Amino acid sequence: ATSKECPLDKDELGRHTWGFLHTMAANYPEQPSEQQQRDMKDMMHLFSKFYPCNYCAEDLRETMKKYEPQTGSQEDFSQWMCKMHNIVNVKLGKPEFDCGLVNQRWRDGWKDGSCD
Ligand code: FAD
Repeated sequence: ATSKECPLDKDELGRHTWGFLHTMAANYPEQPSEQQQRDMKDMMHLFSKFYPCNYCAEDLRETMKKYEPQTGSQEDFSQWMCKMHNIVNVKLGKPEFDCGLVNQRWRDGWKDGSCD
C-alpha cells in the first residue's frame, strides 16, 4: 500500500535536521585540510540561507555573525554545533544540553553501553 506519511512540521524538521548536523559534526575530520575547513564554513553559511523555516534561518544567520563556524577540528566543530543548538534551546525555553556529552550522544553512544 502507498504510505501516507505527511510533510514535516517545524519540530519534525528540526529534530531530523539536528540529527544530521550533529552527526555530520561527529564525523568531521580530526585534522581537516584547509579546503575541508573552508568547505564546511561555506556549507553552514549556505545551509543558513536555505533552511526551510524562514524565521529559524534568519535567526541562525544572525547568530552566525556573532559565532563564526569553528571548523579547526572535530572537537571545535562539534562544540560549535552544540552551542548553536543551545542558543535555539534557550530561545525556545528548552533545557541546555551538556556539550561535554556531545560525542556520546552523537558518535560513541553512552558510556553505560545502552546504545550497544
Ligand atoms: P531538538 O531540539 O530537535 O533536539 C533533538 C535532540 O538533540 C535532543 O533530543 C537531544 O538529544 C539533542 N540535543 C539537544 N540539544 C543539543 C545540543 N545543544 N547539542 C547536541 N545535541 C543536542 N524551532 C522554533 O520553534 N524556532 C526556531 O527559531 C528554530 N530554529 C531552528 C534552527 C535550526 C538550525 C534547527 C535545525 C531547528 C530549529 N528549530 C526551531 C527547531 C527546534 O530546534 C527543535 O528541533 C524542535 O523544537 C524539536 O525539539 P525537540 O525537543 O524534539 O529536540
